[in-house]
Amino acid sequence: MFKRIFGGIGGQLLRSFLIVILISIGVLSFIVQQIPFHRINEIAAQMSQRQALQLAPLFVSYYELAGSWDQAQTLVEQFNQPLPENLAFEPKVGFLRNVNWSETLITNRIIITDATNRVVADSGKLLTVGQRLPTEFETQAVLLEQETAVIGQLVFVSGITPEFVGLLRNGFVRTIMWGGGLAAAIALLASMFLTRRIAQPVRQLNSAARVLSTGAAMVPLTVSGTDEIGELTQSFNDMADALEKQKQLRRQLVADIAHELRTPLSIMQLNVEALEDGLQPQKETAVSLHTEIATLARLIDDLRLLSLADTGGLRLEPELIDPVAFLLHLVQVWQVNAQAKQINLLAEVPGTLPNIQADQGRLAQVMNNLISNALRYAPTGGQVLVGAKESGSEIVFWVSDNGPGISAEALPHVFERFYRADPSRSRESGGSGLGLAIARRLVLLHNGRIWVESSPEQPTTFYIALKSSPASGPLPSAHP
Ligand code: ATP
Ligand code: MG
Repeated sequence: MFKRIFGGIGGQLLRSFLIVILISIGVLSFIVQQIPFHRINEIAAQMSQRQALQLAPLFVSYYELAGSWDQAQTLVEQFNQPLPENLAFEPKVGFLRNVNWSETLITNRIIITDATNRVVADSGKLLTVGQRLPTEFETQAVLLEQETAVIGQLVFVSGITPEFVGLLRNGFVRTIMWGGGLAAAIALLASMFLTRRIAQPVRQLNSAARVLSTGAAMVPLTVSGTDEIGELTQSFNDMADALEKQKQLRRQLVADIAHELRTPLSIMQLNVEALEDGLQPQKETAVSLHTEIATLARLIDDLRLLSLADTGGLRLEPELIDPVAFLLHLVQVWQVNAQAKQINLLAEVPGTLPNIQADQGRLAQVMNNLISNALRYAPTGGQVLVGAKESGSEIVFWVSDNGPGISAEALPHVFERFYRADPSRSRESGGSGLGLAIARRLVLLHNGRIWVESSPEQPTTFYIALKSSPASGPLPSAHP
């Protein structure tokens, strides 16, 4: 319980609250100490003196009329008549409530002495008639004088006594202490409430993170509220979701790679077995083995390239390229291949185009894959168009063929690794389904875009858009 309250975020909140409250109480107490309570007594004493001076002529006149102080006690008691109900000072609230007013209330007192300094009257009835005036009153005593002689002294004792002022001060301090205690209790409750609101989701996130770190799948956390904690929980769920997807992709990738390696290896195994059994001529076996080894080597090269690109290890070597010369050269290289398949391979380029900044080898790799795909899928006697044009600030390359096209279901997947719309057909022609995945990676590395437009029986066109370079101009040796 103690650990629950004082440990973790809840404890930190509680500690912060308590520190703030203690500081506040300290500051308030200090301020109360600074209130000049002693001044109240000084002022009360001054006022008493003035009262005494004002009352003195009244008592002198009384003495002249009465001729003695004999009835003085009766007279002074008139000053201490109890207050009528409606004027009684009985505060009902706060720190003054516990004060015993009948004893401590501001009740003024009048003491009269005769010329020999003996008490003749005391409204407070604390001194007896005939006793000497105690020395503590002597300083505030006012002389009662007739024209020629002193007839006595008058002392006016204020009801605002030091005890009363002490009560006032203690009341202040007690109130602050009680207030502080109450505030601390409220802080405890508030911190418990806040702890539940803040620490609970954090604990939930923590245990979910532990589950994730063990590699296990995680049940999505409930998102409570739209505050930062809610957002954090949502982000955590998204992250867990992304991790799960990544995990599945990785599993799929490993399965795909195993599958891709297995096929050429099986063929190689069959070939070697046939060779051992003497069923297949050596020359034929060698050619077949050579083909499969080449397939494996290419697959490994492609995978290496992709993993390099994924981990940011693939460095581009950009240079200024003249798109027109670049395309014409590519078409020329592929012409022999196209003619062998009786496909009409044509370049569609304007006279000039702005230069682009790109890694020529990587860009050629992308275009080669697009052209080889197009030549693979274009029918005998068909046509493949390779072109480039300027569009806004970009140079758009395209490769188009009049082959069977790509179905709507296959279209969103053609850039995925190992994806083949028609596995049997691609397998025959040696494709592993990595070409377009690599093309997309390389184009993205160039900050470019790649997309495809196709529908069955319509020409299939792949596009690549790259930013044209602001520093365009004639290139001394833009292409090999
Ligand atoms: P690789 O390029 O690795 O040798 P591949 O050519 O099969 O193998 P990609 O270039 O990535 O792989 O193409 C993926 C798939 O997209 C192909 O298998 C094919 O189904 C489809 N595809 C690509 N280009 C075309 C096209 N011009 N016409 C029809 N389908 C195409
Ligand atoms: Mg390909």
